[in-house]
Amino acid sequence: MLSMASGNPYFDDLQSIPEVIDPPQSEDLLDVGELVNETAQSSLKPNVPVSSNVRELLECPVCLNAMYPPIHQCSNGHTLCFGCKPRVHNRCPTCRHELGNIRCLALEKVAASLELPCKYQNFGCVGIYPYYSKLKHESQCAFRPYSCPYAGSDCSVIGDIPFLVSHLKDDHKVDMHNGSTFNHRYVKSNPQEVENATWMLTVFSCFGQYFCLHFEAFQLGMAPVYIAFLRFMGDDNEAKNYSYSLEVGRNGRKMIWQGVPRSIRDSHRKVRDSFDGLIIQRNMALFFSGGDRKELKLRITGRIWKEV
Ligand SMILES: [Zn+2]
Ligand SMILES: [Zn+2]
Ligand SMILES: [Zn+2]
Ligand SMILES: [Zn+2]
Repeated sequence: MLSMASGNPYFDDLQSIPEVIDPPQSEDLLDVGELVNETAQSSLKPNVPVSSNVRELLECPVCLNAMYPPIHQCSNGHTLCFGCKPRVHNRCPTCRHELGNIRCLALEKVAASLELPCKYQNFGCVGIYPYYSKLKHESQCAFRPYSCPYAGSDCSVIGDIPFLVSHLKDDHKVDMHNGSTFNHRYVKSNPQEVENATWMLTVFSCFGQYFCLHFEAFQLGMAPVYIAFLRFMGDDNEAKNYSYSLEVGRNGRKMIWQGVPRSIRDSHRKVRDSFDGLIIQRNMALFFSGGDRKELKLRITGRIWKEV
C-alpha cells in the first residue's frame, strides 16, 4: 500500500544485474595463485604435487569417495571408509585379510593438515578449505548449482541461474515474461481429473532477477485443490527481499494471497506441500470459472515487488 503512494508500484529495475553477479573468471584464480606463489612459495609449492597424491590416498577403494574419520585399515595397512566397512564382511577389499577394528590415525591427521579448493570451483567459488570443513562449506556454498525448477517431470539438469533460465526456455518451452505484474488465464477442459495434475510454470524477469510462477492441481486428502505460488531463482537470503501477491475471483468475490517467494533451493514439492501459496478449493475454483463446471477457467492476477 505504501509503495502505491510513493509512485509507480510496478517499477522495474532495468539494469542487467546478472553480469555483475557472474562468477569470477578463472583468470582471477590464476592471478591469485601466482601472487601467492611469489610471496609464500614455501607453504604453497609442496601442496600442489602432494595434494593430488594425498587425495588419492584419501579415496576409499570401495566407494571412491573421500574418506573422513574414522578411517579404517586392515593389518596390512589398506584403508577403507567407515561407510564401507560394514559392507565388506570384515574382509579387506584389497588383500582379503581379516579387517578387525584398526583405525588409521596417521591418515586422519594427514587429512586434517590438507587444504583443498571447494568442489564448486568451476562454478566460481574461490574458497580453499581445511579437509574436514570442506564438506560443510560445500553443502552451503553460494556457488553450488541449482536444480532445474521445472515441475512435472524428473529433470536432473543443474546449473547457475542464467544457465537454468535458458534451459527452461529452450528445453521445457516455458513462457517467459518481462515485468513484475501478471494476468494469467488457466484453462483446463476436464476439472474432474486431478490425477494428471495440471501444472504450469511461467518465468518472470523483473528487478534483474527471475521468478517462477507455479500453478497446479493436486489432491489434498480426498479433495482436489489448486495452488499457485512463486519461487525465486536464487538463494533464500535474497528471496526475502521480495514479496508477491496473487488474486483470483469473479462475481464480486475474490481471494488474495500475499507471500514471500521461496528460493528454488526448496523443491517445488516442498513448497506445495507446505501450502505456501494461494490455495483454491475446487468448488471455489469452479465457482470462479463460472459456466457449466465442465471447464476450469481461472484468471490469476499478481504482482511482485521489492521490499526496501
Ligand atoms: Zn567407502
Ligand atoms: Zn588389506
Ligand atoms: Zn564453495
Ligand atoms: Zn529442466
